Amino acid sequence: SITPTALLSVVGTDARVPLVDGGETRYTNLDYAASAPALATVAEHVGEVLASYASVHRGAGYLSRVCTALYEDARAAVTSFVGARGDDVVVFTRHTTDAFGLLASATPGEAVLLDIEHHANLLPWQRRGDRVLAARPTLAATLDALEAELRRRPAALVTVTGASNVTGERTPLPTIADIAHRHGARLAVDGAQLAPHRPIDLAGTGVDYLAFSGHKLYAPYGAGVLVGRRDWLDAAEPYLAGGGAVTDVTVAATAWAPAPARHEAGTPNVVGVAALARACRELAALPAGALVDHEHHLRERLVDGLAALGITPLRLWPDSPGAVGLVAFTVDGVPAGKVAAYLSAEHGIGVRDGRFCAHPLLDRLGVPAAVRASFGVGSTVEDVDRLLSALGALSARGTQWAYAQDSAGWAP
Ligand code: PMP
Repeated sequence: SITPTALLSVVGTDARVPLVDGGETRYTNLDYAASAPALATVAEHVGEVLASYASVHRGAGYLSRVCTALYEDARAAVTSFVGARGDDVVVFTRHTTDAFGLLASATPGEAVLLDIEHHANLLPWQRRGDRVLAARPTLAATLDALEAELRRRPAALVTVTGASNVTGERTPLPTIADIAHRHGARLAVDGAQLAPHRPIDLAGTGVDYLAFSGHKLYAPYGAGVLVGRRDWLDAAEPYLAGGGAVTDVTVAATAWAPAPARHEAGTPNVVGVAALARACRELAALPAGALVDHEHHLRERLVDGLAALGITPLRLWPDSPGAVGLVAFTVDGVPAGKVAAYLSAEHGIGVRDGRFCAHPLLDRLGVPAAVRASFGVGSTVEDVDRLLSALGALSARGTQWAYAQDSAGWAP
């Protein structure tokens, strides 16, 4: 079968990193869920955009017009990538966190959410005093509880992750959209971990708002998206007051522009947005199912290999509809931070450890911290096997060691 790796290459796959014994090795990047490496075509495109860089939106020069067209055309790329409705609006933000900050400021009523969310989709609502429901031991029971809550007291918005950044588990978006809509609420989805892994169809699934980040989608840091229904965004106070968000200003008063300009005050991140748009187009052009098959294959291999080592991935719901390419786990007797440091020091493997900006979820799962391995289009069977063999060696290794690492390498 054609793997995405054969169709799309990412940059940095030949990076070499220092090991604690003074040697070096190829870097094994198993931390795509935090920030994915850029696609080679995206990196190339960034170079092109920088080479013909000029002021955006109000410039009269030719290159300003090119830059403005590139920026505005990126909205079309996002619209098509997520299957947005014709009247949806695409607002460019800094990242998912920024997108939820904007949505929370624009939501005209109460929101309901679960305690399994990344802090990006938890803290803006917590700050408003919205309702946070406890997840139940099964997805079915959780959805029943959500529906009961909406029946008890209506809300303007239900907001939920499309895929968990801790367990990888997906949520059934059409079902949740039905529940929300039946009770007069809209549905917002945190797509930070979903967009890089699965096709998204806002119109088809009934999702009203979606947020995601360019840096998890094979583009650079600094550009993200909030896409969805126009009316709330047109009616809301501007997220940031300043130039570009207005139609007319006197010293006494300001007439604000409609969305998206209304929420994009200040000079926008044209390079980041153009890169994000290119990444959307590249992913959309992959043969249907190629990405899902590739990740499924790697995930199965990792989960089976972990099982052989007696390691069980963290899971929330036995009845979730599958998971994206990330697996979090703990190793008996070795703190997560030590496992991650060992993988880097002795094997040049990059994973993430800790609580993944989802503290309530880690509490619910009953672990103080975990290790997370995550992958995507540039990942290979060899990457997974390296991790498994390093973890296999760890059990024979004891825990009487400590490592100190900085950007220059390993401290003696
Ligand atoms: N939601 C989820 C599910 C995430 O994994 C992340 C990134 N860890 C975010 C939101 C926040 O993304 P960003 O840091 O780009 O705002």
